[in-house]
Amino acid sequence: MIPMVDLKTQYEQLKNEIDQAVLEVLGSCHYILGPNVKAFEEESANALGVEYAIGCASGTDALHLALRAMDLKRGEEVITTPFTFFASCEAISLEGGEPVFVDIEENTFNIDPNRIEDAITPKTRAIIPVHLYGLSVDMDAINTIAKQHNLVVIEDSAQAFGAKFKGSMAGGMGHMGCFSFYPSKTLGAFGDGGMVTTNSAEFNDRLKALRDHGSHGRYNHVMLGVNSRLDEIQAAILRIKLRHIDDFNHGRRRVAAVYNTYLKDCDVITPDSHNEESYYHVYHQYTILHPEREKIAAALKANNIASAVHYPKTVHRQPVYEKHFQDLSLPISERISEQCLSLPMYPEMTESQIQQVAEVIKETI
Ligand SMILES: *Cc1c(COP(=O)(O)O)cnc(C)c1O
Repeated sequence: MIPMVDLKTQYEQLKNEIDQAVLEVLGSCHYILGPNVKAFEEESANALGVEYAIGCASGTDALHLALRAMDLKRGEEVITTPFTFFASCEAISLEGGEPVFVDIEENTFNIDPNRIEDAITPKTRAIIPVHLYGLSVDMDAINTIAKQHNLVVIEDSAQAFGAKFKGSMAGGMGHMGCFSFYPSKTLGAFGDGGMVTTNSAEFNDRLKALRDHGSHGRYNHVMLGVNSRLDEIQAAILRIKLRHIDDFNHGRRRVAAVYNTYLKDCDVITPDSHNEESYYHVYHQYTILHPEREKIAAALKANNIASAVHYPKTVHRQPVYEKHFQDLSLPISERISEQCLSLPMYPEMTESQIQQVAEVIKETI
């Protein structure tokens, strides 16, 4: 059996350290916004090259908090990609904004910067680029457009802890960066967790208040906020995993390179590893394209190998949005959502496992 992710192997490698850290938190009786959250915020801000990191309850909440911190008003437009996990767009709608979709580049699966200007209107306030599957968006292009039109840039870095563009870390290049520590992400907790990063002292102040009922200090509520805090147990675990994130990401890149070699002469499109000098891909997912992906998935399943489709429907074709966007056609995203197939990917995957996956694919098509 080859799973999509293997959380157990990673836990076993770090078990002593993690168990001890968790027990220390239990014994400390300091469970919410304590010393581990503070230390994790400092350590991850350091690792990401940003001034501030604000822990919160999930990647989804990170997006909500960021949109509230920039004071998104009802009816204002936020440009994003239709080819992402639903949460990137759900946050815009729930915070009262209007999502505006821009189609993706077929080689990177990320929002196409060349199409953004056409989507800008007087109501546009922000852009949410998503670093899909662990590959950074071209943030020079995004920031240039944002500057010209005075837009806020919120990077959805949920899949990209450790990814880089021209040496800068994903999540550290816009006004705010949103991270998820969902267990299968490149930096995963043992439950839900999230974080917003920023270089702005003003956003930092607002985010710290917003995650804790809008309070500045105890029982002093300066705005309306929510309860969205990272807990001490998750922060203690994340501090340990953060020390190994470079190794994890190296491992993912090794796995991707081996996949590329084994799949070289076959008919599937492998992930673009274009321009290695500018892009440091961390392969949250290793996703191939083929018109007959169901056939490949079935063959893998018959051989006890997992695979998954991220994502079978673009966001604008989800039932909740379908009617609203019925006249919108985004052909690249729509085609890729029909052809994409993510293969097993985790840092500890062995060469023989990768070879097995590749052999089944080659025999099938
Ligand atoms: C996982 C994910 C989120 C949401 O993160 P949660 O921690 O699960 O709430 C948001 N955006 C993208 C692109 C994601 O992959």
